Amino acid sequence: MTPLAALLARRIAQTGPISLAEFMADCLLHPDHGYYATRDPLGRAGDFTTAPEISQMFGELLALALAQAWTDQGSPDRIVLAEIGPGRGTQMADVLRTLKAVPGMRAAAQPHLVEASPVLRDRQRAALDGQGALWLDRVEDLPEAPTFLLANEFLDALPIRQFVRAGPGWRERMVGLDDGGRLVPGLSAPAPLAALDRRLDDTAEGEVVELCPALPAIVAAVAGRVARQGGAAIFIDYGGWRSRGDTFQAVQDHAPVDPFARPGEADLTAHVDFEAVARAAVAAGAAVTGMTPQGALLDRLGIAARAERLARGMGGDTLRQHLAAHRRLTHPQEMGTVFKALAVHPRGTPPPPGFDAPPPDTAPVARS
Ligand code: SAH
Repeated sequence: MTPLAALLARRIAQTGPISLAEFMADCLLHPDHGYYATRDPLGRAGDFTTAPEISQMFGELLALALAQAWTDQGSPDRIVLAEIGPGRGTQMADVLRTLKAVPGMRAAAQPHLVEASPVLRDRQRAALDGQGALWLDRVEDLPEAPTFLLANEFLDALPIRQFVRAGPGWRERMVGLDDGGRLVPGLSAPAPLAALDRRLDDTAEGEVVELCPALPAIVAAVAGRVARQGGAAIFIDYGGWRSRGDTFQAVQDHAPVDPFARPGEADLTAHVDFEAVARAAVAAGAAVTGMTPQGALLDRLGIAARAERLARGMGGDTLRQHLAAHRRLTHPQEMGTVFKALAVHPRGTPPPPGFDAPPPDTAPVARS
C-alpha cells in the first residue's frame, strides 16, 4: 500500500466512502504524497509526454494565434501573458521566444504562471530564468489586465465526479474499502441531482456521465478577465463535446494502470467536456470559438510551412524525430483528432485564427 492509500483508507474507515473528485484531488496534489506535488512526470523518462515537449512548433504556433488576437485588439501595451499548469515551462519559453518577432508584444507582456506543484515550479524557474515571470497559486490571483492565456493538458487534471444513470436519478461512483481494507470503487444510493437534470434527456439507464466541479469557476475567472479587459485564452486537451461515458484513467510509465492500485504514483486524468468550458466562458460574458481538432488547428496556423523551415539544415536522427513530431501532433491516428482546442475572446472581437466557428447554442443570448 502506498502511504497515500493508507492515509485515504484511514479516512474512509472513519468517515465513509469519498467521491472520485476527493480521491483524485489527493492523488494529484496532496502536499506530501500527491503525484504532481512530488515529481516531474513529463518526458520520455517520465510517465507521459505532451505536445510542447514533442515539438517547439506547438508553442510557436499558439503564440502566433495569441499575437494575432493582440494585434486585432489594438496591441494593448501592458498585458498578462499567462499559462495554467505550465509543466516544465517549455511551452512558455517557446512562446516568449516567438513573441520577440511580434513588434511590441514581448515588451508588453508580463509572464504569469499558475502552478500548484513546487517540483514543477522549480523546473519552470530554470526554463524561464531572466524572463521576469511571476508564479501564482490560483487563476483567481491573476491581475485584472488584458489576458492572453494558454492551458495545455491542464483541465484534464482537475478532479471529476462520476454518476451512473439510475431511473430519474443518479448513483455516484465513490471510493470505499473492501474486506481487506483496500481501496475499491463502489456506488452510492440513487438520488436526483439538479446539475444533471438536463442529462436525463440524453442518457440511458446505466450510462456514465462526468462532472468537473472546479472547471466552471476556473474558466469563468479566465473568461471574465478576457471579457472585461480584452485578450484571448486557448484551452487544449483530450476530450469532446458533452461528457459521455467513463473516461477516468490512470497512466504510469506511458501505460494505463488501475487507478486505485497505487494512489499518488500514477497520473489521473479524465476527458475534458468542452461544452462545459464553452458554457462557463459564455456565462462569464466572453465569446467562444467552436471546439477544434488539434490537427486542423495546427494545419491552419501553418505547421507545414514551419516544419519545412525547421527541417532545412536538419539531417539523420534529428530530421527523423522532427518529422515524427509533426506527424504526432497533427495526424488523426495520433494527437490530431483526440486533442481539441477551444478559444475564448471578447465579444465583438475577431476570434483567434485557426479555430472552427462556435455552434449556434454557445452564441451569447441577444439582449433587448
Ligand atoms: N501544460 C504542460 C503540463 C501538463 S501536466 C504541458 O503541456 O507539458 C498538468 C500541469 O498542471 C502540471 O504542471 C501540474 O502541476 C499542473 N496542475 C495540476 N493541477 C493543478 C491545479 N489545480 N492548479 C495549478 N496547476 C495544476
